[in-house]
Amino acid sequence: MITAEQKPIDEIRGMIAPYKRILVLGCASCVAECAAGGEKETAMLGSALRMAARMEKQEVEIEEKTLDRQCVNEFIVLLDDIIDKYDAILSLGCGAGVQAVADMFPETPVIPALNTEFLGETKSQGLWVENCLGCGDCMLYYFGGVCPLARCSKQLFNGPCGGSVNGKCEINPDLDCAWQLIIDRLSAFGALDRLEEIYPPKDWSKKQGGGPRKIVREDQQR
Ligand code: SF4
Ligand code: SF4
Repeated sequence: MITAEQKPIDEIRGMIAPYKRILVLGCASCVAECAAGGEKETAMLGSALRMAARMEKQEVEIEEKTLDRQCVNEFIVLLDDIIDKYDAILSLGCGAGVQAVADMFPETPVIPALNTEFLGETKSQGLWVENCLGCGDCMLYYFGGVCPLARCSKQLFNGPCGGSVNGKCEINPDLDCAWQLIIDRLSAFGALDRLEEIYPPKDWSKKQGGGPRKIVREDQQR
């Protein structure tokens, strides 16, 4: 999922300052899972902004709504009937959600309330970790399900750097050495021979450099 964190409230207040009627718009998907932009966080941010405005005797109308998915047009159209009530949308979607809403309503400012972070896994309650860079050519098979691009600090493809101590990364001893994990995993199911290949440097053209990537699936289009 996409992970995100709420921006500092002062930054948010600065961005919404010119507007008087604001819709705080949450998203019930990834950003809800990472407790940044779901219904609950949207309600809390709306209340905090109302309270701050009241304390400063500002006349501002702030309402909340949460879409099931802010990055999918079928859900964004649910705003069609209410959008005219607002001067601006404060979005608690990820960067894709903010832009999807802005595309749909070109005359309404759509302001990001979150900093979008990374493709992550919920490791435990309140802990999210980055484990995929979305490189466009997944090699997890060869590395036993541990991504050296996302999880090795030096993004090494052909074995460890030699600096690992007690299974920890030399760059950051709080991190497991990805190569220790790769070797342990491949050993556990007898597939260490996958590391006998020399893997060439990553072809990053599948990730970036050619403008925004697209997936076109004609079988899914209607
Ligand atoms: S190789 Fe790593 S970065 Fe690329 S898709 Fe697989 S998990 Fe993601
Ligand atoms: S110690 Fe392990 S994870 Fe850290 S840079 Fe070296 S090989 Fe990569």
